[in-house]
Amino acid sequence: MSGNFLALAQPGVQQLSPYVPGKPVDELARELDLDPAKIVKLASNENPLGASPKALAAIREELAELTRYPDGNGFALKSLLAEQCRVELSQVTLGNGSNDILELVARAYLAPGLNAVFSEHAFAVYPIATQAVGAQAKVVPAKDWGHDLPAMLAAIDANTRVVFIANPNNPTGTWFGAEALDEFLQDVPEHVLVVLDEAYIEYAEGSDLPDGLDFLAAYPNLLVSRTFSKAYGLAALRVGYGLSTPVVADVLNRVRQPFNVNSLALAAACAALKDEEYLAQSRQLNEAGMQQLQAGFRELGLSWIESKGNFICVDLAQVAAPVFQGLLREGVIVRPVANYGMPNHLRVTIGLPAENSRFLEALRKVLARG
Ligand SMILES: *Cc1c(COP(=O)(O)O)cnc(C)c1O
Repeated sequence: MSGNFLALAQPGVQQLSPYVPGKPVDELARELDLDPAKIVKLASNENPLGASPKALAAIREELAELTRYPDGNGFALKSLLAEQCRVELSQVTLGNGSNDILELVARAYLAPGLNAVFSEHAFAVYPIATQAVGAQAKVVPAKDWGHDLPAMLAAIDANTRVVFIANPNNPTGTWFGAEALDEFLQDVPEHVLVVLDEAYIEYAEGSDLPDGLDFLAAYPNLLVSRTFSKAYGLAALRVGYGLSTPVVADVLNRVRQPFNVNSLALAAACAALKDEEYLAQSRQLNEAGMQQLQAGFRELGLSWIESKGNFICVDLAQVAAPVFQGLLREGVIVRPVANYGMPNHLRVTIGLPAENSRFLEALRKVLARG
């Protein structure tokens, strides 16, 4: 007889549902015997431009050093980030994706008996990071699909150590303004670390979205997390970062893996940071694609949730799962969000113009079949 190793897992882990990623292109190609080149994947908020040529060149150069461990302190990348973000080097934490930053926070600050507060329809990694360390997830009902910041404040108690807020949020694309953020930060008790997840902030330049960095100096309990996976187009490499006080950065540094960011990722991220042209192009493409999708939805009589990200949730006014399946058969992969409590929506990543057209055409076909 062997032990029941599910029942033996810590209670928070037993209750966890694993993260469900977007369906990989090759998997759909295998299942439906389709040509992978003809499949359109708009499911994981990836940058449709492909990586920056400068990042690719940096990777090629770095290949010669693959036998060596990476710089465990990520000095070059941290220096560039500190300069760009107007902070000290000691305030930067690098992560294996910003996902890693969220987990470092959970490992350092959460434990059984403690809790993290976050919103309904928020990023799926918040409950995973929280429950994985045996802490309680306090989920606050959303308001108009977005974060209800006053209600989140009210949910904070003596055992709360972390609040996760995403601006804009994934999968909803909803956001809050500078005033709402400032009021929230003013009222969060000092024993609570606020993790402001800005995975899509680079897309929001010039909009009314606040820049989390503007609040770092005033609020020592604020950590801003960002990533190279979205607008910088390096999702496969897994590199993100956190900006906080040096004290919080020191705490996170104690629990991270010694070499949590690999050398190719470090080199590519440095090059990507300097490639302003790529970033501008990503933004432009995203804005045009957002308009294209919204025009398409309007034509189909569908509504959507306004989004500041590189994705949009369309409301199908019916259970979305069969439509998702129908789209797969047309070779188009989008993201169902029923597991986020949104059974009637599909989340679509903004693609290249031709990819957006393919998706809209497939959606029209599938909906017409009824
Ligand atoms: C994509 C995403 C992240 C980051 O992903 P990484 O690839 O781990 O950097 C973080 N938060 C949100 C809300 C996201 O959508």
